[in-house]
Amino acid sequence: MMNEVKRPKKPLIYYYAIVILILLLFNFLAMPWIAERQIREVDYGTFISMTEEKQIGQVEIQAQENQILFTDRDETAIYKTGMVNDPDLTQRLYESGAKFSGEIIEQASPLVSFLVSWVLPIVIFVGIGEYMSRKLMKKAGGANSMAFGLGKSSAKVYVKSSAGIKFSDVAGEEEAKDSLKEIVDYLHGPARYKEIGAAMPKGVLLVGPPGTGKTMLAKAVAGEANVPFFSMSGSEFVEMFVGMGAAKVRDLFRQAKEKAPCIVFIDEIDAIGQKRDGRVGGNDEREQTLNQLLTEMDGFEENSGVVLLAATNRPESLDPALTRPGRFDRRIPVELPDLKGREEILKVHARKVKISDNVDFSVIARMASGASGAELANIVNEAALRAVRDNRKAVTQEDLEASIEVVIAGYEKKNAILTDKEKRIVAYHEIGHALVAARQTNSAPVQKITIVPRTSGALGYTMQVEEGNHYLMSKEEMENKIATLTGGRAAEELAFGSVTTGASNDIEQATKLARAMISRYGMSREFDMVAMETVNNQYLGGDTSLACSWQTQSRVDELVVELVKRQHEKAAGILMENREKLDELARYLYEKETITGEEFMKILQE
Ligand code: ADP
Repeated sequence: MMNEVKRPKKPLIYYYAIVILILLLFNFLAMPWIAERQIREVDYGTFISMTEEKQIGQVEIQAQENQILFTDRDETAIYKTGMVNDPDLTQRLYESGAKFSGEIIEQASPLVSFLVSWVLPIVIFVGIGEYMSRKLMKKAGGANSMAFGLGKSSAKVYVKSSAGIKFSDVAGEEEAKDSLKEIVDYLHGPARYKEIGAAMPKGVLLVGPPGTGKTMLAKAVAGEANVPFFSMSGSEFVEMFVGMGAAKVRDLFRQAKEKAPCIVFIDEIDAIGQKRDGRVGGNDEREQTLNQLLTEMDGFEENSGVVLLAATNRPESLDPALTRPGRFDRRIPVELPDLKGREEILKVHARKVKISDNVDFSVIARMASGASGAELANIVNEAALRAVRDNRKAVTQEDLEASIEVVIAGYEKKNAILTDKEKRIVAYHEIGHALVAARQTNSAPVQKITIVPRTSGALGYTMQVEEGNHYLMSKEEMENKIATLTGGRAAEELAFGSVTTGASNDIEQATKLARAMISRYGMSREFDMVAMETVNNQYLGGDTSLACSWQTQSRVDELVVELVKRQHEKAAGILMENREKLDELARYLYEKETITGEEFMKILQE
């Protein structure tokens, strides 16, 4: 792991606590004093009885205002009462021992109490605010930074570290690594490039499906080149206020230029780099941020030592201005790993766990066809967890195989209880798939059949594993695949004369395949090589949108139905020919619940 150096978080709560404490103290200590200094009004009777009880300290008769001010014995509280015509008053007061004060009894003026209760707290608040902002500024280290970090970029600085990620940690992806090695070489010695006058691309765009190691590759470039690594996600630029994102971009580039040579990595760049399409109510903030990014990229000269890397899984949605030469002009595809790549990734991650000697990674890699690097890492970890659960000291082949199943189909459902009839149906269904697959040429061999329910909702499944790499699929192979998918339902029909909901997933997949054959791969005689659908985002699910009139669309639907129907009939035919084997295998699976591909083939070939 890289050592990430972060600015310490300011404990704002700490300052608030101090402010509240001061306010509380103020209320407890100062307020009573103020209240005491306030004059309390009492009636004449109270004054008389206090006089008789000799409770009076000082007294002042204010004839003009027609009132008497007096204090209690300790001269802490001040009282006021109205004057009544009372000739004996002076005599009585004299007897009570009160001191006559000609001057005013010192009292808190309204001005003082106003100052204490209103102005003082404000002064305290402002003082603390000043202090805090000065402190923050000092930490941020820039005179131009605004108080409370407004508009500051939170780009993290990954300081070079010997424990950093290297290219050797990224398995497979050889082509991507080759392209990036050039950048590492450039960061090591820009002089050689300058001499000839060759300019490094300013920006490199890593595109590919999620979890294929794009972030890892960017980190590896920084690790290999031993330069600072600034990393930010596109979404971090998107702020609530227009202009703030742009300020962050400016700040990021300012920091980067100071630290050059360095690498700036922007993950998920599509968050800010989307096409500006002038929609009504468009996103001003995002567009400003993008404009700022474009300007900054033009702003730094070639060979300034700042290399910009960005990752996205939606390259088609990026603004053309962003991908033109001079900006992100180099595009490196980071695709899902092939068989060899998968094996290498498994080995890289297996280095971190204890693996027993019997493990054959090529088998695991073949089983995990279509898995991304992140999924493979997850498979190894699941296997390690399983080994711990079973109290073993090392990860075995079985652990890895089981964890692939967990990733494909979820955990085994321990307490799902199928009725006898249901279990029999599932057994026939799965054997139907396997039999149709086995009886066709060009089908992937069956690896395992199971009827143990899984948490994903699957009641059973048949695992087929390709022998080697597969880049092209022929029309026959695709048809066979559809036939295999319909084999489950066909077996149910044959054995029970009725159908169940169990085939819903098969139906979905078969339809998808058939539709793709006709509308995208040009595999129907009728439409020849005309595309009826276009793929929207190839790396994320690959959903499609129609590119034909509705009349054509309904014809596509008809062809899809025809195609699937034909394959369904073919599958039913295969099963009918092998009726005895179907019964025998289904019975066997029903008893054993899980059988291997070899067991299956043995019975089939007897
Ligand atoms: P992305 O940025 O493409 O979505 P990441 O680079 O974040 O993917 O990869 C996620 C995780 O998957 C990594 O932390 C790593 O464990 C694993 N991984 C992905 N690709 C590879 C690879 N080629 N070699 C080794 N590990 C990989």
